[in-house]
Amino acid sequence: MTRRTTRRAACGAAMLVLALLPVAADAADRLVVTWHPARPRVGDVGWLHLRGASDAAVIEGSVGNRPLTFFPYAGGHAALVGLDIETKPGVHAWRLAVLEPGIDPQPLSGKVTIVPRKFSEQRLTVPRGMVDLDPETEQRAVAEGRRLQMLYRTISPERLWRGPFVRPVAGTEPPSGFGARRIINGKPRAPHGGADYAVPRGTPVVAANAGRVALVGDFFFPGRMVAVDHGLGLYTLYFHLDTVAVGEGDRVERGQPLGTVGATGRSTGPHLHFGAQLGSARVDPAALLTLRLAD
Ligand SMILES: [Zn+2]
Repeated sequence: MTRRTTRRAACGAAMLVLALLPVAADAADRLVVTWHPARPRVGDVGWLHLRGASDAAVIEGSVGNRPLTFFPYAGGHAALVGLDIETKPGVHAWRLAVLEPGIDPQPLSGKVTIVPRKFSEQRLTVPRGMVDLDPETEQRAVAEGRRLQMLYRTISPERLWRGPFVRPVAGTEPPSGFGARRIINGKPRAPHGGADYAVPRGTPVVAANAGRVALVGDFFFPGRMVAVDHGLGLYTLYFHLDTVAVGEGDRVERGQPLGTVGATGRSTGPHLHFGAQLGSARVDPAALLTLRLAD
């Protein structure tokens, strides 16, 4: 098989055209992959658009060692890409396989440059009991962390979200602190995986998009929390709630109340910690709010 690769830019997005000869005739001989944005940053959630494959095609793919989950989109296929908060900036390889009935699998591959991003440093002082945990509390926090990790790796097969993601609290003030390298009581800790909205206790918290309530918990660090499963490995998280208005298994619409802002768990005061996970990748929820897909 000979394969020719050309690169050109269109609409501000890098476009990679692969002409595949002579495996597939007609429609399948021209597969086009577009990255949005063309040069994603560490912590971004972007998306890949594949055109030229038939509706019946099954697409498998990965960026680095993270798998992609494709869905039908605008007469083609698309997949969200989450670039974890601790992704190494630089050139990363991606690969796809287009599986069409009756045709040999068509491999596609390329490279994407992930742009570095400067994260702030946060120095926090919290009560010692919230950092130097007694063994029993430590065990509890570890078990809760594992439960969340297991949840994030659970990929529901149906895409439940549509259209834009909305702020989980009213107002215009941007959230802060995503990716902050944290020094808590003088000791470096894991980077801050979400973004915080400093709003008063009792402020209504709404679902950023349609989904299903996957978990309602009262955990040591997150406090009272809700996780919404948007399908295909995407979750949004709402931590430190004062009250919760939904139950596990509930279907929620974009903008539907989930509860109210509080200061439960490890929190220096009332605020909403808003998080987004794409599989195991911790991504910037603010990037989710700027995601624009046509359907
Ligand atoms: Zn937070």
